[in-house]
Amino acid sequence: MPYLDHAATTPMRDDVRAAMAPYHSERFGNPSGIHAAARIAKNAIEEARERIAAAIGAARPLEIVFTGGGTESDNLAVVGAALARNGGVVTTAVEHAAVLESARFLGRLGHEIVIVPVDSSGRVDPGDVVSAVTDRTAIVSVMTANNETGVIQPIGEVTRRIRSAGLPVTIHTDAVQAFASLPIRASDDGPDLITVSGHKIGGPKGIGFLFVRNGTELEPVIHGGGQELGRRSGTHDVAGIVGLAVAVEATVAERDRYAARVGAARDRFEHDLGSRIPIEVTAGEADRLVSHSHVRFPGIRAETLLVRLDLAGVAAAAGAACHSGAIATSHVLAAMGVAPDAAAESVRFSFGRDDDVAFGAEAARIVADVAGELS
Ligand code: PLP
Repeated sequence: MPYLDHAATTPMRDDVRAAMAPYHSERFGNPSGIHAAARIAKNAIEEARERIAAAIGAARPLEIVFTGGGTESDNLAVVGAALARNGGVVTTAVEHAAVLESARFLGRLGHEIVIVPVDSSGRVDPGDVVSAVTDRTAIVSVMTANNETGVIQPIGEVTRRIRSAGLPVTIHTDAVQAFASLPIRASDDGPDLITVSGHKIGGPKGIGFLFVRNGTELEPVIHGGGQELGRRSGTHDVAGIVGLAVAVEATVAERDRYAARVGAARDRFEHDLGSRIPIEVTAGEADRLVSHSHVRFPGIRAETLLVRLDLAGVAAAAGAACHSGAIATSHVLAAMGVAPDAAAESVRFSFGRDDDVAFGAEAARIVADVAGELS
């Protein structure tokens, strides 16, 4: 039955699982030691770092900092840069909570926080971001693409304008959702900090990395034994890091195929669904990730639809954030000016690497049947 929640998490790849296995058994060493078992673990980490750096085009392996996932990478980027430079944050209204809550935390510490609005398609205007930067700004954080709607932000344009204006701020992008399908590269003229998470790309949960351009000032947020050159303390998850490297390499190698195949599945899904029942695709005209489909079913409560879909074996997500069992209006949809009633009728469907056109058609048929019973 259709699993349509790959944006929440996607199954681990077989090659990732196989690569990790020895580090859950005989290669169990703590990489911080000085004996042979430790060296095996340490070598595995450094090899993974080199492979990830090469896969994303980072100039130096040490620009890859291993973290406990996307949330931690976002915290390290936003809080770390703001503390290191004792300055404020400019970010957008549609960021993941890991960025927005990090900014709010800094706000409580007295840092200046500016949240830039988006238009009705969920896109931020690069000019608005640049205008929000002042001499008190330490970091600008704009996601590469949104996790709810899939809408792609103009992070390239934001970065170009900030650089050409000579503004001395650190630039961060959360590429957690975008990494599977967009060409995320650590280029000289790109962002200084890039967040990537393992479990959205076929890697394990609880592991990710932050690309940190050489020379970027960053205060650690996790203190302790000084691992990761003092930027992130804590005993390394060696198996997770090894698995992450395999997932990153495979994702980069398969990106074009993924984009074509998954995009065809998603497009077929939206087309067939729309031809069977009344729907409104959120930001349907905007530049979106190929994997995401955020759909409003007028007159049908998302909560009801999700329960019925679950009974039919279909996994999808509320288009609005779910807090303690109740669906609250998502801050992303609110920022786009979507009325609470419309937001409460929205569901996110997200596709994964094995999905094809036939899957998209079949998923649309099942979802249309279930929704049809409710209308
Ligand atoms: N940023 C975005 C855009 C996400 O979609 C997610 C996860 O949903 C995260 C950050 C958090 O990543 P993790 O689950 O690895 O902590």
